Amino acid sequence: MPESAILCVRCGNCLENCHIFSSTKEWKHAPPNRLRILRKKADFVAFECNGCRRCTVFCPFSVEISAYVSRARKEIKNKAKALVELVEVQLEKGRQFEKHKQFYEAAIRFLEKKHNLKIPLNKKAEILFVPLQGEHTIIPAAKLFNLAKEDWTLSYFEASNFAFFLGDMELAKKVSERIFREAEELGVEKIIVTECGHAYRVFKMFWREWFGRDFEILSIVEVAAEYVEKGIVEVKRGLAEPVTYHDPCQAARNSGLIEEPRKVIGSFAEDFREMKPNKEKNFCCGGGGGLVAIPEMKDFRLVAGKKKAEQIKETEAKYVLTICENCRTQLKDLREHYGLNYEVSGVVELLSKFV
Ligand code: SF4
Ligand code: SF4
Repeated sequence: MPESAILCVRCGNCLENCHIFSSTKEWKHAPPNRLRILRKKADFVAFECNGCRRCTVFCPFSVEISAYVSRARKEIKNKAKALVELVEVQLEKGRQFEKHKQFYEAAIRFLEKKHNLKIPLNKKAEILFVPLQGEHTIIPAAKLFNLAKEDWTLSYFEASNFAFFLGDMELAKKVSERIFREAEELGVEKIIVTECGHAYRVFKMFWREWFGRDFEILSIVEVAAEYVEKGIVEVKRGLAEPVTYHDPCQAARNSGLIEEPRKVIGSFAEDFREMKPNKEKNFCCGGGGGLVAIPEMKDFRLVAGKKKAEQIKETEAKYVLTICENCRTQLKDLREHYGLNYEVSGVVELLSKFV
């Protein structure tokens, strides 16, 4: 049970530092009021928060509002039906593994032919790579691993963990257990997670406590940074158009992945422009905390992303890069909603086009 709420002196330091309150100006979205509401009952205002923890960074007492948000979400999780259904799909994939396996293997063999690329599956290896759904998360990593001559294999499961967004950590453990069993069976030592903010945080922060095993957990962007720094993969050409980078809250502020994406971008971008503020003080895009996966929250998250749209506009960048699938979706939606003009890509995804 979180207790840091008693430290809140209602100083107001966090108000304009919450992108949601700053955009909606609704009092229920002011972090101390959100806290007051959630201490009394599990209210839907818990789903009108990205759980980005920016308020905590600017709070003199580090009040953890997102902990109260998670607790409330768990109590009223059925109000986020889309997330509950996504968790069920993830668990069903584990229960019906043989069926899922056949379908997945056929899809991967198709990708191998399409891209003329070896993608090992179900192989004893040093590395287990955990992607998301969609070839844009599989092909760039496969290309880099093969160039670096890694001993790797692809996971049958996706890295995302929708139960985390419901604040239900027992359920989140069950979702992760499918991948843990796979890693044990394949005898891997390292788990490399695709570009996904919350997934990286779940692997990095909870796996040791849940499973008592010390796998080396890395993000694909950490691995890519090492490849370019040590010349393990050669970057053959650069990108002249202006590029900016959006720090996903779960990756940067909440897991410390800050310099690695910048090292990778620096290997190919000739005109890199930081948003201001950035790194651990960056503003959330408005799509975090699972909001992108809840269709009824679309209008809300577009309003919540106003600060981010302003930040991007100021850079005049033609490419907005990030290392999170939720952020990617939100950045594309913000582009349409606010009439902006830029391409959205993953950092490693774009790197893979230049090696
Ligand atoms: S959206 Fe972020 S800054 Fe605003 S209350 Fe939630 S965790 Fe705090
Ligand atoms: S900054 Fe901290 S103490 Fe001040 S109002 Fe916000 S949560 Fe309360």
